[in-house]
Amino acid sequence: MNKVHLSGLLPAEVTSLLQELGEPAYRGRQVFAALHKRRLTSLAEATDLPKDLRARIDERATASTLTLESRYVSEDGTRRYLLKTHDGFPVETVFIPEERRDTICFSSQSGCPLQCSFCLTAQLGLLRNLTPGEIVEQVIVALNDAYGIGSETPHGTNLVGMGAGEPFLAFDSVMKALRIMAEPTGLHIVPGRVTISTAGIVPRIRELATIPDRPHLAISLAAPTDELRDQLMPINKKWPLQELLAACKEFEKSLKPGETFTFEYVMLDGVNDSEDQARQLANLLNRHELRAKVNLIPHNSAAPLPYLPSPPERVERFQGILESKGVRALVRRSRGRDIYAACGQLAARGAEKIAPALN
Ligand code: SAH
Repeated sequence: MNKVHLSGLLPAEVTSLLQELGEPAYRGRQVFAALHKRRLTSLAEATDLPKDLRARIDERATASTLTLESRYVSEDGTRRYLLKTHDGFPVETVFIPEERRDTICFSSQSGCPLQCSFCLTAQLGLLRNLTPGEIVEQVIVALNDAYGIGSETPHGTNLVGMGAGEPFLAFDSVMKALRIMAEPTGLHIVPGRVTISTAGIVPRIRELATIPDRPHLAISLAAPTDELRDQLMPINKKWPLQELLAACKEFEKSLKPGETFTFEYVMLDGVNDSEDQARQLANLLNRHELRAKVNLIPHNSAAPLPYLPSPPERVERFQGILESKGVRALVRRSRGRDIYAACGQLAARGAEKIAPALN
């Protein structure tokens, strides 16, 4: 794409682009509002801008670069969007309606390089990092589909960076996209409403802690020992638990009053869900004295992944052991599993391949 992608620009950058075209600063503000407040997907619809100006912008820049390939709606109301970049790579976004506040789950990469053995996205490998504009546009697509172009969102939106890819390997794109989306004159989704999940890229955890207006953090753990985590999440060989939890301890210093961070623990039947492993996990977190909670996520199974979800009784037992040792633990019910929209299921699949849910 040799045109500038407008959705990936901060207000000041939009203004300088307009100034290069000989336009006053307020035109920049108008363009930014058209894209992010009114969520127009093309400047052709921004009829408050002179027609010749729209044509001149169009020579240099484009509002949107993603195209919608398919849209899947779950029986629980969750929606999955399968989009395509201008150069043909898949991008997936999930809209999760909730009573109090909706959540949009965005992707940071097309595919993922990390090879976690329980995750379907890993099967794609890394296709490429997404740009800031491609991240912002995912959120605009989901909001426009849910509420209509330009209409107010009835209640605020939470964002989670838990889609395809490892956000901390696309760190600059993600952080810039978050700054753009936080703009009060645009989407106005502030970092306090955003949670980014990492498989454990230690230097970026430490870096995130130094950013004043940062999002919340979640960390995918999946195992209480290095031996098992090496197998399930090969990134553990680079940054093992000791280093990961030391970085978490450092991150903890940046927590605001009342803020916690989350460990995600996917529960794999007979692999990481025994009573012993629950005790090991509790001891590990207690040893590091971490102010964190644990989200237990029963595995979302899909061929060809060689795992089944832990049965509900075992999940409950695991949770009970964590709680009895003073570790806050919640069981997370997956949404959108019937349309391949749940955790670990984003692999650019079409509906025809959707198998019935296992439990
Ligand atoms: N790469 C980042 C962002 C993805 S978040 C990370 O790993 O944190 C996706 C979450 O879903 C992670 O916590 C991951 O461990 C979990 N997950 C992956 N595959 C899953 C599956 N099949 N069932 C349930 N959870 C899964």
